[in-house]
Amino acid sequence: MDHFDYKGGILHAEDLSIEDIARETGTPFYVYSTATLTRHYQVFSRAFAGLDTLICYSVKANSNIAVLKTLADLGSGMDVVSRGELRRARAAGVPGQKIVFSGVGKTREEMAEALDENIYCFNIESEPELEALSGIAAAKEVKAPVALRINPDVDARTHAKISTGRAEDKFGIPWKRARETYAMAAKLPGIRVTGIDMHIGSQLTELEPFSNAISRLGDLVRELRAAGHRINHFDFGGGLGIPYRRGNAPPPHPDEYAEMVKDMAAEFDCRLVFEPGRMIAGNAGILVAKIIYIKQGENKTFAIVDAAMNDLVRPTLYSAHHDILPVRAAAPDVPERDYDIVGPICESGDFLARSRKLPPLAAGDLIAVMSAGAYGAVLSGTYNTRPLIPETLVNGADYAIIRKRQSYEALLGLDALPPWL
Ligand SMILES: *Cc1c(COP(=O)(O)O)cnc(C)c1O
Repeated sequence: MDHFDYKGGILHAEDLSIEDIARETGTPFYVYSTATLTRHYQVFSRAFAGLDTLICYSVKANSNIAVLKTLADLGSGMDVVSRGELRRARAAGVPGQKIVFSGVGKTREEMAEALDENIYCFNIESEPELEALSGIAAAKEVKAPVALRINPDVDARTHAKISTGRAEDKFGIPWKRARETYAMAAKLPGIRVTGIDMHIGSQLTELEPFSNAISRLGDLVRELRAAGHRINHFDFGGGLGIPYRRGNAPPPHPDEYAEMVKDMAAEFDCRLVFEPGRMIAGNAGILVAKIIYIKQGENKTFAIVDAAMNDLVRPTLYSAHHDILPVRAAAPDVPERDYDIVGPICESGDFLARSRKLPPLAAGDLIAVMSAGAYGAVLSGTYNTRPLIPETLVNGADYAIIRKRQSYEALLGLDALPPWL
C-alpha cells in the first residue's frame, strides 16, 4: 500500500505531480510520502495495540532526519547501528530511552557516546564486545543495559546477502554459547542484563523462519529465567518483507506477523521490542529518473537514464526487482516493448531493470523506480564522481527538499592535495 498513483494520467506522490517536482528539483531524485510512512508505522503499531511494546524503526533503512522525525512524531523509537545513526536519531528528537544500539562492531567511542545518551539497550553480539562495554560502563560508574543477540541458526530463506540468522553468518552469539554468555554477562561489573534479541534477516516473505527463531529463543528465555537472569524485554528484530512486484502475492501482512508474535510471546509477560525498517520505508519512496537516450543494441533496447547504481544499488547488489512506471501513463492500447533500464556508469552491473516490458519510451521521458524508500538513498555513493542526489518529502500538497543535491564543489572539496604537489 502506498500513495503513488496516477491522476489525470500523471504519476503523483499524494497530491503532487511527479512532473512538477521534477521541474523544480531536476532529475534524478528520491521522493518519500509522509502518508505512506505514517500508514506503515500505524499498521505496525496498531497490530500490537494494548501491549507493552517499543517500536524502534531501523534507521539504516532510510536515515534522512526528516523521515526519522516523521516517525518519531508518531511515537517511534529508533534502532541504530552506528554513532552517526545515533546522532541522527537524537537530531530527530528521539529520547535515549527509545533507542536501541545494534551491530557487530560497536567501537568503544560509540559505546561511550551511547551510554552518555542513556539509551534503552545495547544489543550485544559477542563476548569481547560485552567485556568492552562493561569496562567502559564501569569506568563511568554506570551499568549498561544489555540484551544478547542470539543467533538461532535458522534459515530465513531470503537473499544470501541479507540473511543473518544462520550459524555461518557473522551476526549474534552462537546458539550453543548463549547460556554461558548470559552467565558471563551476569558477572560483569558494568553490565545489567535486561533482555534478549534476535534479527534473522531482511525481506522475509514467510512467517515460519520467524516462528522457528522465536520458538528457540523462547526456550532459552525460560531457561535463563530459571537460572536467575532478568529478561524484561524480547527484541524480535526487523525483517518483515514488502511487496516489490505489483500483482504478485504479497508477503505476510503485519497483522499476521503480530498475531504469531503475540501468541508465542504471551507467556513471557515482557515488553516486546521491534526493529522494522523496510516494512516502514520501502514502499514509501520512489526514485525518479529521466531518459537520456534510447539505444538500440544488437538484440536489446537500452533506456539509458540519468540515475545509476550509485543512486540505487539494490538491483546490482541483491538482484532486486523494482517495478518501473512511466511518470506519464501510456495510452491503454499501446503494445509494450522490452527494455533494459541502465545508468551511465561504466560497469555492466549498472542497471535498474532488465528485460522489462514497458510502453514505448523516448528520450526526455521520466520514469519512477518504485519501492525505493528503504536501502535506496542510504546505500548511495559518488562512483564516477556523480554527486549524491536530492531526497524530497511530500506531505499532502506540500513537499520539501530534505537533502539537497550535492554540489560539485562539495564533492571535489573533500579531496586535498599533499604539500608536494
Ligand atoms: C537491518 C536491520 C533491521 C531492519 O531490517 P528490515 O528488514 O529493514 O526490517 C533490524 N534490526 C537489525 C539488527 C538490522 O541489522
